[in-house]
Amino acid sequence: MTNIMPMSIQKLKYRFYAVLLPVFLFVACLGWYEEVNAESPDDLNLILLPILVILFFISTLIVFFKKSWIETSEKIMVIAICIVSAIRFTHAVSFELERTMTLGPFTYWMPMFYMFLFFLLNTKWALLTTISTYVWFLGVALYKLPVLIGTPAMYVLVHYFFANLVFIVTLFFLQTVKQNYIKAEVLEEMANTDYLTGLPNRRKIDQELILALDKQQKLAIIYLDIDYFKQINDTYGHTAGDRLLKEFTVKTLEVIGEKDFLGRWGGEEFMLILNDRDLEHAYLLAEKIRKEISENQFEHLDTLTASFGVTERLAGDTLDTLLNRADKALYEAKNRGRNRVVSINK
Ligand code: GH3
Ligand code: MG
Ligand code: MG
Repeated sequence: MTNIMPMSIQKLKYRFYAVLLPVFLFVACLGWYEEVNAESPDDLNLILLPILVILFFISTLIVFFKKSWIETSEKIMVIAICIVSAIRFTHAVSFELERTMTLGPFTYWMPMFYMFLFFLLNTKWALLTTISTYVWFLGVALYKLPVLIGTPAMYVLVHYFFANLVFIVTLFFLQTVKQNYIKAEVLEEMANTDYLTGLPNRRKIDQELILALDKQQKLAIIYLDIDYFKQINDTYGHTAGDRLLKEFTVKTLEVIGEKDFLGRWGGEEFMLILNDRDLEHAYLLAEKIRKEISENQFEHLDTLTASFGVTERLAGDTLDTLLNRADKALYEAKNRGRNRVVSINK
């Protein structure tokens, strides 16, 4: 479940890196420059900042020039940032907390960092990295606790750890909900899509027709069936037949309008749903498709033709009566010699 990552989210993630990594690189460079020129530079920053600069620089190069490495580099990057912040936190608790009474940037940046981890990584990795960082931080705090007991610094730590724990648990639950949502979407998409052509399948066509019939507006349908497809399979093989079905789909989609709904009814049969269109419009569109298909040069084939049954919605129509008329029209088109359009409106 944790590995479901649709391409759209993957792309979003890459774009996110392409914008953010150069910004991080710039900020790290700036911090390093300031530290070098400071009157009393922090020794730890003088070591950590150049490391971050190098890491951000390499990651930026990877995002722009070697996309296949992104997944690996993202993990290395996250581990490195966790280690760098853990070192910084250890230093802050050991040497600064008692004096400053604050955990400084950790208070506001850690929740942000956890959010990024849950957004960018899968649940397993996000949990692993957040919990490891949290446990390291907690270990440091517990180690220092005997000295801090009863001091305000102790309350700063208690607040910090409590708030961060709530934050991690909340993010984990949100992530789980998000994953379930994505999973449901992917399953829904699969249940409604024909595997071979990528078109809506019969289940989806039925839903679409029921919706269209509910709308109380004009409706026309075209029932398409490729002619002599069995012969094509027998002559060129099933795989060639499959390729032809895909080519046929692409060609038909090129001819129809964006709003027209094309689905694969099954085998070599397709259904076109034309919302808010009448019989005349549907007939003309069917003729256009028929002509394009019969004149197109398909792989292996000099000619491929299809027959078309066209009908429109009549008063009192149900799904059955509408489909039966389209079926009758298609049967008639086959009977009259194929490669033709027949329309029925009674
Ligand atoms: P008609 O002109 O009367 O429509 O003849 P036809 O040969 O097209 O019709 P028939 O119903 O006899 O044969 C349909 C063929 O379509 C039989 C089946 O093997 C083939 N077919 C159905 N689904 C697929 C598929 O997914 N891939 C391939 N390659 N062939 C398929
Ligand atoms: Mg058929
Ligand atoms: Mg056929």
